[in-house]
Amino acid sequence: MSHGNISIFIPHLGCPNACSFCDQRTISSTAHAPSPYEAEDVIRGAFERITNPSDRADTEIAFFGGSFTAIDRDYMTALLGRASKYLKTPEKDGFRGIRISTRPDCIDEEILMLLKKYGVTAIELGAQSMSDKVLEMNNRGHSSVDVIHASEMIKAHGFELGLQMMVGLYQSTVYDEYRTMAEFIKIAPKTARIYPVCVLEGTRLAELFKSGEYILYPFEKAVNICGVIYCGLTSAGINVIRMGLHAEDGVEKRAIAGFYHPAFADIVRSDIVKNVILKYYMSEMSDEDRNMTIEIEAPPKLLGAVYGHKKSNRLFFESAGIKIKASVNTSLLPNEISINKDVQNVFKIT
Ligand code: SF4
Repeated sequence: MSHGNISIFIPHLGCPNACSFCDQRTISSTAHAPSPYEAEDVIRGAFERITNPSDRADTEIAFFGGSFTAIDRDYMTALLGRASKYLKTPEKDGFRGIRISTRPDCIDEEILMLLKKYGVTAIELGAQSMSDKVLEMNNRGHSSVDVIHASEMIKAHGFELGLQMMVGLYQSTVYDEYRTMAEFIKIAPKTARIYPVCVLEGTRLAELFKSGEYILYPFEKAVNICGVIYCGLTSAGINVIRMGLHAEDGVEKRAIAGFYHPAFADIVRSDIVKNVILKYYMSEMSDEDRNMTIEIEAPPKLLGAVYGHKKSNRLFFESAGIKIKASVNTSLLPNEISINKDVQNVFKIT
């Protein structure tokens, strides 16, 4: 089994903040905060299901929901106390650790010591943007400096750091998006998540969108920006563990606009591959090469991205008179494709 998470969603009911994209106020009557007993039931169930010691050691208990360190302190420690019983110790095969996500301004020395005591190993910060203008316009209530300070503290205490960003927030420009990427690279987290914005009913973004004050990028542009950020982060050694919101977040039903798509990450990867092939074609081939076939070899997991989401790349190149033929080559690295079986033409999809 590959690395996995036991995910438990902890809504921040009664959160005093009002981030432009968040609908916690409108869903707070229906959102369910699991009791520590319920959370333990989920963890115990996974513990009994995953019996192989190495699979357990490759699994984390993940408390998601945005502001784990800002929820009621007794509730938080009760959740952690239940979870920590299932962690690996010298005497017992257990799960690798506990992963939490929180706001940058809800991190300090005291909370980090507490998290360490309960076996938390990874902390993800919802940075969202590294532009103070964008943070302010979206009512985040923290600054980019808070992100930098919290990140430094988390790393100094030996936690694995993750950073999350949103693409397409109100008043964010393409420059702001790429600047956020560049700042992330400077901070050097272990992991990152890229969330293209979804405009949910009942939020400030929804009001701004309906009034015409908030104009979203076209979908293709959001895909392209996410692709550039994905490549920038991964080539700097940061593991991008998510692009696009999870379907189980229920966003599909609540979204009135934005970039939700269940296969968003596939679409971005297809776009990256398309641009690599296009660049090769433009630099290596001439008009006489039209009507020819470009042979692409890829590792199994990238084969779909060569043809593109719903064959979009194949159709794109066919419209330019170029045929794409893809086949599997297991000797390539997971992020490599080779063009026309030439070792000189092996490209990294990062
Ligand atoms: S996203 Fe903002 S408003 Fe929503 S729960 Fe988190 S801190 Fe509160």
